[in-house]
Amino acid sequence: LESDRLVAVVTGSNKGIGLAIVRALCKKFKGDVYLMSRDVGRGEEAVKSLSSEGLNPKFHQLDINDVNSIIAAAAFFKEKYGGVDVLVNNAGVFCKGEDTKTHQSVEQLTFFACASGRVVNVSSLLGNNNLNKCSPDLQQRFRSEDITEDELAGLMQRFVDAAQKGKHKEDGWPETAYGVSKIGMTTLSMIQARRLSKERPNDGILLNACCPGWVRTDMTSDKAPKSPDEGAITPVYLALLPAGATEPHGTIVSDKQVMPW
Ligand code: NAP
Repeated sequence: LESDRLVAVVTGSNKGIGLAIVRALCKKFKGDVYLMSRDVGRGEEAVKSLSSEGLNPKFHQLDINDVNSIIAAAAFFKEKYGGVDVLVNNAGVFCKGEDTKTHQSVEQLTFFACASGRVVNVSSLLGNNNLNKCSPDLQQRFRSEDITEDELAGLMQRFVDAAQKGKHKEDGWPETAYGVSKIGMTTLSMIQARRLSKERPNDGILLNACCPGWVRTDMTSDKAPKSPDEGAITPVYLALLPAGATEPHGTIVSDKQVMPW
């Protein structure tokens, strides 16, 4: 058992911001760092590319749309390390209306965080912007302190159903699936942070959502101002909040600043 060794894991990290987060953690985190990807070949290539920079990430497969792969990864880290010390959920969730199944599996991993763990959910300020475009009723639910994961998953499904019928605008939703997915990711982060505070009050776990900024990756364009390494700065800052820190927790952070929700 290597449970006295610290471990950091980053989902969807074979390229883009995730890869840059792994690169920074390899340099700054005192423990093992796992690059994770859904495709083993792409993941191993990425590990090789970091090796050529003199860095030594480890690898574990994980597809956030495959609950079994998440259960297997959670079991692996539980057995080998006793849980995870840093979890960066970088591969988007709720992206394609990925429903209850995905959110439960992400939760599965989140609640494996060790005492003093840091959980970082890569979201986007597009979530904040689009929250303000939702109907007052929807805004009230997303901002409420008593929304549950089940209610949130139900709302995401309602958006998907409405969008498929072309009725999302009249139902009070904005014109963007990506923006709504990030409303979901940020709201989920706040729900999970409240739950961690309530269910594990003495464990000192800090969980936050963040926006990396507009970053040049395959998802965007070369017009974006930030490099992937620059986009990694805020997620890595949250991943490495010092032991004993009590905030931020349950917030959305951009450029290391807590943003209004
Ligand atoms: P990217 O370069 O396209 O990388 C996305 C990563 O996610 C890839 O490694 C991809 O793996 C992985 N992925 C996709 N589906 C997956 C799944 N089902 N399971 C596991 N991994 C999966 O995009 P990026 O710009 O770095 O985005 C990373 C995160 O930052 C996303 O959550 C994105 O929404 C967020 N974000 C980005 C920006 C920006 O300006 N770039 C701004 C705000 C927020 P494959 O190679 O297998 O596809």
